[in-house]
Amino acid sequence: MDRVRGKVAIVTGGALGIGRAAGLLLAKEGARVAIADINDDEGKKAVDEIKKDGGEASYWQMDVTNEKEVEKVFGEIYRKYGQINILVNNAGIPGTGKPSDEMTEEEFERVLNIDLKGVFRCTKHAVPYMKKAGGGSIINMSSMLGIIGGGDPVYHAAKGGVRLLSKGDASVYAKANIRVNSVHPGYILTPGFTGMIEKRDPEMLEGFLKSCAERTPLGRMGKPEDIANGILFLASDESSYMTGTELIMDGGITSQ
Ligand code: NAP
Repeated sequence: MDRVRGKVAIVTGGALGIGRAAGLLLAKEGARVAIADINDDEGKKAVDEIKKDGGEASYWQMDVTNEKEVEKVFGEIYRKYGQINILVNNAGIPGTGKPSDEMTEEEFERVLNIDLKGVFRCTKHAVPYMKKAGGGSIINMSSMLGIIGGGDPVYHAAKGGVRLLSKGDASVYAKANIRVNSVHPGYILTPGFTGMIEKRDPEMLEGFLKSCAERTPLGRMGKPEDIANGILFLASDESSYMTGTELIMDGGITSQ
């Protein structure tokens, strides 16, 4: 119940999917949680769910592509709670699914702007508060596709960038006692994941989900809660000697 008691956590993209599960679990374990997202309806529902569960949380509308907004929202969160200890850089979108020679520069830039530069912007504006607090933990959402190649080049580029941005920041901020680690999920059943498949071909959804489970050595797709458990561990002091590491939670896919 108390694994992150007394800490304040920001979860970007915390309205749905993995971020929502992470916010719920961090709150259950005693953190005060700020959900920062562009999906206001679901963000407010996530906060209600946390409160119903006895936790403390609040919602902020925040687009990770807008640096001014990130700076403003983090300032407001600091003024409300008096500290910022945990940042879960989770907001992200799928890639285009297109090969490089069929992708426009705008499409490429949009994915990088959210998935990679969003992590940079939020880290930049959380670090000063973490320094004031004497340290902190930053958990960056990469993917198994940030480690291996596949059919979505821009997504691999963005998530591979997140992996090494995490290691770079880990080296730089270790002296300030700010730990930075990346998380690498496999196929996780979330609104974002099913939405991506439905957008490409709704007819394909059922068969695709089945094939994801079959391609996973543990024989099933992951649940948002599976990933939230890893995030909680990295957020808590239980991982206090870990920085610059990559936590792979993919049911064994990348071990094959
Ligand atoms: P999800 O279900 O789509 O939830 C993501 C949330 O982030 C949504 O509420 C979304 O709002 C919000 N968001 C999107 N763009 C944003 C922005 N610019 N600023 C702030 N919030 C924004 O996604 P998920 O599947 O849980 O994925 C969460 C993270 O895990 C992503 O970084 C994703 O790349 C990564 N990941 C997912 C999987 C998987 O299989 N699901 C695997 C590996 C890694 P809207 O609903 O309005 O778009």
